[in-house]
Amino acid sequence: MINRTRRLRKTENIRRLVREHKLTIDDLIYPLFIEEGENIETEIVSMPGIKRFSLDTISKELDEVVALDIPAVLLFGIPSEKDDTGSETWNDDGIMQQAVRFIKKNYPSLYVITDVCFCEYTSHGHCGIIHENDVDNDATLVNIAKQVISHAKAGVDMVAPSGMMDGMILSIREALDNTGFPNLPIMSYAVKYSSAFYGPFRDAADSAPTFGDRRTYQMDPSNRDEGLREATFDDQEGADILMVKPALAYLDIIRDLKNNFDRPIACYNVSGEYAMIKAAAEKGWIDGDRVMMESLLSMKRAGADIIITYFAKDVAKLLLKK
Ligand SMILES: [Zn+2]
Repeated sequence: MINRTRRLRKTENIRRLVREHKLTIDDLIYPLFIEEGENIETEIVSMPGIKRFSLDTISKELDEVVALDIPAVLLFGIPSEKDDTGSETWNDDGIMQQAVRFIKKNYPSLYVITDVCFCEYTSHGHCGIIHENDVDNDATLVNIAKQVISHAKAGVDMVAPSGMMDGMILSIREALDNTGFPNLPIMSYAVKYSSAFYGPFRDAADSAPTFGDRRTYQMDPSNRDEGLREATFDDQEGADILMVKPALAYLDIIRDLKNNFDRPIACYNVSGEYAMIKAAAEKGWIDGDRVMMESLLSMKRAGADIIITYFAKDVAKLLLKK
């Protein structure tokens, strides 16, 4: 007897009934780049449709995000002053802190998450304090604590540490608990690879390292088991959500985390993944909308509950049209 699996593919309605995964607006977080200064609205050449805004120009972008019912934004701050420790990150009047206060005041329904790192704020572009040509893990943890407390005081809804320092989740959890923020959740960049897919982001966030690379703290793309180890430590240290970054080339890692942890799993559909689809679509080589939807759906299928993506507005527009 032939097993006729095609019976359940015959019409769109039966396909709808047996469809296993769905991408919805509820799944999406939209990253925003906020630059200190005035009258800034700079398109990022390698990321068509994505801009850097100053606080006086960002309202129309936020209006659109809210109108499209995207639940959350992830903020990256670009300060006008950098130094070797990234001390602007814990300035209560820094660009990130101002942005949080501005958005929570004017768009109270929007869920605001801050990236917690130093690379946009250090003169050398690395994710912490440099000692003997490498990032000093434990000295950086002290400053991470100062940074999250400052974000918390500004009123952020969730913090997302991205620097891949050992012990960073524990340091952040203790810092928040000890300063009256025990209910502020942490989304950890738990498994973050040292990836060429971040290229366009470094233009966007002005965060390329001036020497060396990030391979002493970000993970080697060859490693899978190590991803489980990283996620286990962050889970034990108190991360509320575990993230995998990048997404498309690391779907196996997303599935590993989904199978092994009883926590929501997020993935970051990074700038290079976005740029490839936009560029090929611009050339007319692929159907950009369909490849976008199929790529994001693959992340859901792999096990992601949450997708951080520059496509969030495009996806929301497409889903609302249906
Ligand atoms: Zn960083």
